[in-house]
Amino acid sequence: MSKITKWIYPTTIDEALILLSENDTEIIAGGTHIATQKHKSPIKMVDITRIPLNYIKKEKNSLRIGSTTTITEIIESPLCLEVGKGILTKACQLIADTPLRNKITLGGNIARKIPWVGLPVVLLVLDAEIMVIEKGKEEKRISARNFFEMKKLQRGKLIKEVIFPINSALFTRYEKFCLTKADYAWLTLAFSSNIELGIIKDVKFAVSRITNIQRITSVEEALIGKKVNTIDTQQLINLLRANLSIVADFRSSKEYRTTILEVFLKRFINEMKEETT
Ligand SMILES: Cc1cc2nc3c(=O)[nH]c(=O)nc-3n(C[C@H](O)[C@H](O)[C@H](O)COP(=O)(O)OP(=O)(O)OC[C@H]3O[C@@H](n4cnc5c(N)ncnc54)[C@H](O)[C@@H]3O)c2cc1C
Repeated sequence: MSKITKWIYPTTIDEALILLSENDTEIIAGGTHIATQKHKSPIKMVDITRIPLNYIKKEKNSLRIGSTTTITEIIESPLCLEVGKGILTKACQLIADTPLRNKITLGGNIARKIPWVGLPVVLLVLDAEIMVIEKGKEEKRISARNFFEMKKLQRGKLIKEVIFPINSALFTRYEKFCLTKADYAWLTLAFSSNIELGIIKDVKFAVSRITNIQRITSVEEALIGKKVNTIDTQQLINLLRANLSIVADFRSSKEYRTTILEVFLKRFINEMKEETT
C-alpha cells in the first residue's frame, strides 16, 4: 500500500461522499484487501469505519446490514440466522480466520468482485439488494444479479448496506472448497430453491472462483417446474459441462475443478430430495 498522502476519517456519509468525489481518494473499510494493493499515484485513504454504517436491522421481511459490519458481527448475530435458513452465517463462518473475520466488512467483501470471496454467491442466490450512494445522486437499489454483472463499482460510489430478504421457506446450501479453512477458496458455490408440493417453483445456483461470479441459468432453467423426486442429476451435470467456462490455475486443472463442482451439485440435489420429499 504505497504513496498514501493522507488518511481521513469521515464521520458522516455526506462527508465521505464529498471526499470520494475527488479523484485521488480511495475507500478503506477492513483494509484486508486494499493493504495488498499497490497504487501507482499518490492516494488519500477515506476510512469509512467511523461512519455509522455498522448495523444489523430487522424489518418486516428483510434484514438490512450496514456495509462496515464485520464478518464476526454477522456470525454472532442471531438475526442473521434468519436469512436463507442460516446460509449467510455459514458462509461467513467459512471466511478466513478469526483475526481476519474481525476486520473484513460486508461492503469490502463484495465491492471489488474478488473471485475467491464467499459472500457474492450468497447474495446472488438470496436475491439480495445492494444500496449504493454517490455525491449529488439518489440512492440506488441494485439487485445482486445486476451488481455482479456490472464491470466495476465506479470511483466515488459507496456501498451503504445490503438488504437480505428473509424467506424461511427456502432450501439453501453453501460450500467453499479449499485446502485449509484459512486458505483462499478454490471454489465457492451457493444454491437456493423454493419448493411447493414437491415441485420446484424457484431455484438459484451461483458459482465463483473457477468462473466469474455468476448464476448458472442453464441449470436453474432445467430445474424450474420439475418434481423434486424426478430430477435427473446427470442431465444437470451435462448442462454444467456444456455451459460453464471453467478456468484452470496453478492450484488445480479444469477437469479437477469441474469434478468438484459436479460433486457439490449432486450433493445439493440429493440433500434437497431428502429434505423436501
Ligand atoms: C489470507 C486471507 C484469506 C482470505 N480468505 C477469504 C475467504 O476465504 N473468503 C472470503 O470471503 N474472503 C477472504 N479474505 C478476504 C478478502 O480477500 C478481502 O480481503 C476482504 O473481503 C476485503 O474486505 P475489507 O473490508 O477488508 O475491504 P478493504 O480491503 O478495506 O477494501 C476492499 C476494496 O473494497 C472497496 N470498499 C470497501 N468497502 C466499500 C464500500 N462500503 N463501498 C464501496 N467500496 C468499498 C475498497 O475501496 C477496496 O477497493 C481473505 C483475506 C486474506 C488476507
